[in-house]
Amino acid sequence: MNIVLFGSPGAGKGTQADKLAQEFNLYKISTGDLLRIEIKKGTSIGNKIEAIINKGQLVSDNTINSLIENIISNKSFFNRIVFDGYPRNLHQAKNLDDILEKYKQKISLVLNLQVSEENIIKRILGRRICSKCGLIFNDFFNPASKDSHNCGTSFLEKRPDDNEKIIKSRYRTYTEQTLPILNYYRKQNLLTEIDGNKQIDEIYKEIRQFIAPLETWLYKMYLYK
Ligand code: AMP
Repeated sequence: MNIVLFGSPGAGKGTQADKLAQEFNLYKISTGDLLRIEIKKGTSIGNKIEAIINKGQLVSDNTINSLIENIISNKSFFNRIVFDGYPRNLHQAKNLDDILEKYKQKISLVLNLQVSEENIIKRILGRRICSKCGLIFNDFFNPASKDSHNCGTSFLEKRPDDNEKIIKSRYRTYTEQTLPILNYYRKQNLLTEIDGNKQIDEIYKEIRQFIAPLETWLYKMYLYK
């Protein structure tokens, strides 16, 4: 089962992908996280990527597509990927289909997290990520507490691109380049709409209704093969 989590920046894709990965034993592949790892290395390519991210634009398709092929070709991830933040334009969507076909896999489901602009802004401006454990919190909706987070507040960081100026261009990039993918998946009957405005656990409850039967079905197919 390979799942694409689709939605605007700040829609909650990463949070929901973490939950899916944990419950269904999947691997979350966030292209944003992979790029941030490259930036941390301080290489010249990392510096170039950082400049693009800080403009709210998309990193080149070639860079992203080769990162993705490295992952899909890895047998440990075979048919167990949740894509978070990929594909981001039509070229990447078509490339994903090609790479999956090359490695004898396909997309099982595309979940579109629909969130109002007002909530998106709050989610982005309130987001805090733990640099130690990777958990994502939000000052408004899901603040870190002693029960939910053990690493301590000193590890909670804001992403440099989570500010009002960059949000505007990230959102423009999303509407111009990413949104058109929805039709591509709609035509293939892969798209399921999710109300992403609710509380994290309610959204997850809705999402898992679509995933759990799929997982059972795939498991049976495997057992009786
Ligand atoms: P994210 O963590 O998904 O919000 O991504 C942060 C930034 O990384 C985006 O604003 C883009 O600049 C870049 N990025 C992430 N995923 C992609 C992708 N699939 N294609 C191009 N750029 C990406």
